Amino acid sequence: MGKLIKEEPEKGRLHIDSPLMGESLVSRELLERTESTKYFRMHPDINVIKIGGQSIMDRGGKVLLPILETLIQAKDRHKILLMTGGGTRARHVYNIGVDLGMPTGVLSKLGDKVSWQNAEMLSVLLAKHGGVKIGHGDNLEQLTMFCRLGYIPITYGIPPYGFFEHPAEQGSIPPHRTDCGAFLLAENIGARSLIFLKDEKGLFERDPKKIPPSERGDLEFFDRISARKLMERDLDDLIIERPILTLLQRAKCLKELQIIDAVRHPEHILEALAGKHVGTIIYKE
Ligand code: ADP
Ligand code: MG
Repeated sequence: MGKLIKEEPEKGRLHIDSPLMGESLVSRELLERTESTKYFRMHPDINVIKIGGQSIMDRGGKVLLPILETLIQAKDRHKILLMTGGGTRARHVYNIGVDLGMPTGVLSKLGDKVSWQNAEMLSVLLAKHGGVKIGHGDNLEQLTMFCRLGYIPITYGIPPYGFFEHPAEQGSIPPHRTDCGAFLLAENIGARSLIFLKDEKGLFERDPKKIPPSERGDLEFFDRISARKLMERDLDDLIIERPILTLLQRAKCLKELQIIDAVRHPEHILEALAGKHVGTIIYKE
């Protein structure tokens, strides 16, 4: 902290002598000195749960309703923020946008509407149980209060990059989509946990859907692996968005995330919330 120097006591003016004064804020050596041993966590009891767009929402009531039943049960014991994915409709609009040569920032703006639609549907389905759709503004400081009052806050997963989305490593699909949004929010609010509800039991060496069912048993399964090791493995395809690996390695609050199969095992949501290992855990090394 800078110290306040009263330079002109007769005029009552304060001048601030800050250790960051005159710095570009780029110097590695300076930035290292700003590293804290303990970061403040705003919502340490909130569990961020991302409901997949393609993997859950697009499958409709048969898959979604048992998951919602489980979440309604869980709400009495756990504070939960639900975040939504996009899914097939987002893929369709990306496809048209890519065909038209739209830049990444425009594609990002197109995709957020779909994740918003899914948040809208969830808030309607959960309305009588306290489901309430919120945006990415001031309500995010109030999450713990919402949960204490018995609400289930729901927001869309797409982070608000829009025209400021980073260029993708390859192609033009926005690299930070709803998995990244859930990660970034969970990290910045200092959440208790981050759980991804998907349709596979976790991460395999390859996408199990792209190989014949008879060969799936031979696939290596990652029960627990660090983000750093996964980056080294450089798998061609992943069950979560790739930038999460870099973000998790740099995280200040979140230590790990879990990916679970909520389609075949909605009950795993309760177990994951209780801190049990039922899917793939990716952790910060
Ligand atoms: P969501 O709708 O939750 O964002 P996605 O469909 O985008 O989910 O991603 C989940 C899918 O990723 C799984 O259904 C699976 O088919 C696929 N996938 C790709 N690579 C892998 C992998 N290495 N291990 C497991 N699943 C993978
Ligand atoms: Mg996805």
